[in-house]
Amino acid sequence: MRWSERQTAMLHEMGVRCWYPAPPPQGEADCTLLPPAEQGVGAAVAALRSDEVAAVERVAAVTGEVALGDVATLGWGELREAVVGCTACGLCKGRRQAVFGVGHQRAHWMIVGEAPGEQEDIQGEPFVGKSGQLLDNMLRAIGLGRGDLPGVDADAAAARQVYIANTIKCRPPGNRNPEPDELARCEPFLVRQLQLVQPKIILAMGRFAVQSLLRSSDPIGRLRGRVHRYQGLPLIVTYHPAYLLRNPEEKAKAWDDLCLAVSTVRAAQASA
Ligand code: URA
Repeated sequence: MRWSERQTAMLHEMGVRCWYPAPPPQGEADCTLLPPAEQGVGAAVAALRSDEVAAVERVAAVTGEVALGDVATLGWGELREAVVGCTACGLCKGRRQAVFGVGHQRAHWMIVGEAPGEQEDIQGEPFVGKSGQLLDNMLRAIGLGRGDLPGVDADAAAARQVYIANTIKCRPPGNRNPEPDELARCEPFLVRQLQLVQPKIILAMGRFAVQSLLRSSDPIGRLRGRVHRYQGLPLIVTYHPAYLLRNPEEKAKAWDDLCLAVSTVRAAQASA
């Protein structure tokens, strides 16, 4: 995979080192990004053991008020209204606003985070604080972004403009961890967003996204580095940007995860 000088500069900004198998040719960096061969798509589909089922269960039974069945039929507009007006858990009492999601509605890439923080609660958009700046830099480094791409045709826009959503739509007070019942009650909204977007790849950032989507409470370090599946869609586990800000030495692993996602999408396109 070759990177232009601009991309290399962005990787540098992200704090990510590139490893060159040989000196890069004239102004291009050739990063060894691909996962080991045995981790190719298909071969690396992770199987979750039943005893790995997460602390957060798919508690459809708990979600009486959420009307799980109804959410599963909503279109974008109705879904947004349902999220904005949701009172299914106590988080609605402390929020300024629910944070729905942003990006291309048929994006090839869907990024799933954890929950809104203070800035997201104020601005109504996921990942707009410090973690969001790092996420944007990471995405930019692989040619992606969250914003509209004026003048770009619809197919190209879907490939380059991501969709970003959180597992939890309302800010937990003081940014505490979400409770299992809050995750369970919010989950139908994320499930429906995933169904509507039908991404070609899901990037699950942090342990709550992973718990919700993979039903695994294993640490990220044990789950990353291979291709999982969520309802048939390839899913890559990676560290949450907030964790990377606290542990910058882990950014190189996050970079590897992004590269695994890129190669997974490419492999799927090549075999289509
Ligand atoms: N962290 C998240 O997981 N999501 C946000 O929207 C902001 C910070």
